[in-house]
Amino acid sequence: MPRFPNAFLTRDQLSKMEPFYPLEAYVCDSCFLVQLDEFETPQNIFRDYPYFSSFSDSWLRHAKTYADRMVPRLGLDHKSLVLEIASNDGYLLQYFQHRGIPVLGVEPAENVAQARG
Ligand SMILES: [Zn+2]
Repeated sequence: MPRFPNAFLTRDQLSKMEPFYPLEAYVCDSCFLVQLDEFETPQNIFRDYPYFSSFSDSWLRHAKTYADRMVPRLGLDHKSLVLEIASNDGYLLQYFQHRGIPVLGVEPAENVAQARG
């Protein structure tokens, strides 16, 4: 039963109880989609989301390498559309966009989506 990982506590909150959630993943037998049950509301999870993917230089290098490999492999060009669900601050899509490939990021955390470059 892990704690919610994105909750940074204030000094006043240190002695108070924190919510715990079961760690269970559900896997679809047909398509192997992995999902979690819904224990929290999106409003509580994504209102002030503290993780920005672009903060990690090594993750950005990985994203650029991925884009460099996928463009020729998938034959992507200006007529393609790269769609990323949970696109965070656009850390990955920027490398497709720089190549003139249309992109669409879907991001539930409002403060993160607004920060995209
Ligand atoms: Zn399925």
